[in-house]
Amino acid sequence: SSTAERVQLRSALRVLPAYKPGRFPAVSDVVQYKLSSNENPYPPLPSVRETVEKSAAGINVYPDMACAAITEAVAKRWDVPAGSVSFGAGSVEVASQIIRAVAGEGDEVIFAWRSFEAYPMLTALAGATAVHVPLTTDERHDLPAMSAAVTHRTRLIFVCTPNNPTGTSVTAGELHTFMESIPQDVLVVIDEAYVHFNVDPSAAHGIDFFRTYPNVVVLHTFSKAYGLAGLRIGYAIAPDYISAALRAVAIPFGVSALAQTAALASLNAEDEIKARITTLVAEREKLHSGLVRIGWDVVASDGNFLWLRTGEATHELEEIFTNAGVIVRAYPGDGIRISIGTVEANAKALEAAKNAFSRFT
Ligand code: PMP
Repeated sequence: SSTAERVQLRSALRVLPAYKPGRFPAVSDVVQYKLSSNENPYPPLPSVRETVEKSAAGINVYPDMACAAITEAVAKRWDVPAGSVSFGAGSVEVASQIIRAVAGEGDEVIFAWRSFEAYPMLTALAGATAVHVPLTTDERHDLPAMSAAVTHRTRLIFVCTPNNPTGTSVTAGELHTFMESIPQDVLVVIDEAYVHFNVDPSAAHGIDFFRTYPNVVVLHTFSKAYGLAGLRIGYAIAPDYISAALRAVAIPFGVSALAQTAALASLNAEDEIKARITTLVAEREKLHSGLVRIGWDVVASDGNFLWLRTGEATHELEEIFTNAGVIVRAYPGDGIRISIGTVEANAKALEAAKNAFSRFT
């Protein structure tokens, strides 16, 4: 058909950076370990499964759009007003709501780079301008540089802590200094998708900042520590008027009843979740020291993943992992992120990393 007969797509789509999901294992005889999406390697808790199965009986009706029960539970968990809690189909949808609520054509959205790849994508989709502020050489947020990047068009800043994919986090002291330098009509989103894996006592905790500054939104998810990635539920804790705006831009009925009840059951199983987190953190430390012993220069991580700076060798090294049955996340020309999996998977990853290192140097 001629161009004139074609539907005109928005120009923003032309410059949209792609979101590449972690690869699934290919069909093969080799046992494969998916360490490419920072998922929780544990199967669902029995109590969570049971709730999901029970609520499956009601999937012929729409879910509670207000997410009332889980809202109340989250508000209680963090001792925040229920009006400050709002949900989305994963925290990535909540991030999308936030951008759509505050940024449009010509507005600027600042984030560290490299960080979560949905930030530039969702920013471009909103027609706003993404401002990438390079990480420091030790893979951390350069908060002074991010503050210096603020202009009169800045509407939003993402602080991802621990940062995906480098695993570094910002300290409470650093974040306070940063917040003091940011105009209060600029919204600061503290993306804490991996916060549960952060055991560093000096780390910033978003909720404290939400209580202190009027322009802070905290993003949490049930996908990582709580192991519900497949059900899609995340939330924001924000000042009431912003929460109301997020609900207004949310897709109606975006969060399923299964997701809501599973999240509730997970919150009620916090002890079991914590025990799993403790194991994953210990495994992270084990893999980290193993990598360092091999010779990899890898920064300490506060998330459930580790970051190898592999530069131009990334593709070649990814193959070594793949051939060993370890599916990792490769960022071409930049690095490889390895999610923490089962004890067995992590051992396989270390073995592959050993082979990769001899090729790298
Ligand atoms: N924030 C960060 C930093 C992430 O890495 C991810 C998932 N990769 C998300 C948010 C979104 O996770 P979900 O939508 O599953 O809550």
